[in-house]
Amino acid sequence: MGERVVIVGGGLIGASCAYRLAQAGAEVVVVVAGAPGGAATSASFGWINASFYHDAHHFGLRQEAMAAWHRLEDELGRLVDWSGCLNWESVSVAELEGFGYPVEAWTGAELREEVPGLEAVPERAWFMPSEGVVEAAAVARHLLEASGARVVSGCRVERIVVEAGRVTGVAVAGGVVAADRVLVCAGTGAAELVEPLGVALPMLTRPAVVLRTTPVEMRFAPVLVPGGMEIRQDAEGCLIAPTSPNHQADATEALPESAEAMALATLERLRAMFPGVAMEMAEARLAWRPVPGDGLPVVGACGPEGLWLAVMHSGVTLGALMGELVAAEMGGAVQELLAPYRAARFG
Ligand SMILES: Cc1cc2nc3c(=O)[nH]c(=O)nc-3n(C[C@H](O)[C@H](O)[C@H](O)COP(=O)(O)OP(=O)(O)OC[C@H]3O[C@@H](n4cnc5c(N)ncnc54)[C@H](O)[C@@H]3O)c2cc1C
Repeated sequence: MGERVVIVGGGLIGASCAYRLAQAGAEVVVVVAGAPGGAATSASFGWINASFYHDAHHFGLRQEAMAAWHRLEDELGRLVDWSGCLNWESVSVAELEGFGYPVEAWTGAELREEVPGLEAVPERAWFMPSEGVVEAAAVARHLLEASGARVVSGCRVERIVVEAGRVTGVAVAGGVVAADRVLVCAGTGAAELVEPLGVALPMLTRPAVVLRTTPVEMRFAPVLVPGGMEIRQDAEGCLIAPTSPNHQADATEALPESAEAMALATLERLRAMFPGVAMEMAEARLAWRPVPGDGLPVVGACGPEGLWLAVMHSGVTLGALMGELVAAEMGGAVQELLAPYRAARFG
């Protein structure tokens, strides 16, 4: 490709794009306001799945995204824990099976065997064996390093510089970082960078509080979706649980109470689910999900020549794929899979 691409943002989306663009021969500079690893990415639950989706096309995108994670692992080694998901919330089983998505019906007894310590088990749960979880910020940092890109951290992009109708760089404190193309992967910070250039990017406000407990004695491998919440266990044995029930449909604009109070309420719920298991709150993390106005990703060239955008929720599921698609499009191969997700839909 041979062009100099400045990527704004060092979360999973920016890192994945940096990795694939560098592979395609671009000279990549990643400019990050915070630390490499991202904002939403470093708070993320990290669940990779196609079982939450908006429509059939979006399901297809997510399923291709799961395949992209496997392609990335073929190159870089193990990144994801593919232990599946046990869901006893409402799942569109018939529709998922119609799509050819693997779903197994489990009895309560099977569930109890897989997840020791559960107080009450339902009669039936759904196991989705192809799903996984990833420590997304660690993978983002790994991708940035593997890309060989130059990373400039602690450096906020103030605006995107446009001369004679095309982008020529990004303005930062003390000067301009020159670029042939600028790719904005700035999550909740993207709209304020692209809107002055005439690109509409309405974003929803979606705060979340993620509880991490102290390490617990019991061990289970899959993601648990027991209804009203999601739970997983990390390598140290800590339970991780975001407070809002559903990544795709959560509609909370403001926090009803403090982050600590919300996390403590989640802790009480976990204690009731696992009554014999000692656990305390280790951390309550407040984060904002980068959710475009209609809930769907926004990806591709937009606005002045040389400007590109990749902003989305479920960016962990979609992360590995976005690098592939953006790099292919920058190389000149338009990706049909991205057709419904252009910024132009917002006018
Ligand atoms: C609590 C929570 C749980 C989630 N759970 C899941 C899940 O289970 N599965 C899933 O698929 N998705 C999940 N998501 C969504 C997913 O984490 C995000 O979609 C994804 O991490 C977005 O990555 P990103 O790189 O676009 O953004 P971010 O990780 O937010 O990174 C944005 C980057 O842009 C930088 N930046 C912003 N403005 C500027 C600027 N002006 N100048 C320079 N740099 C700037 C920031 O410093 C940061 O590096 C969750 C999100 C949250 C918050």
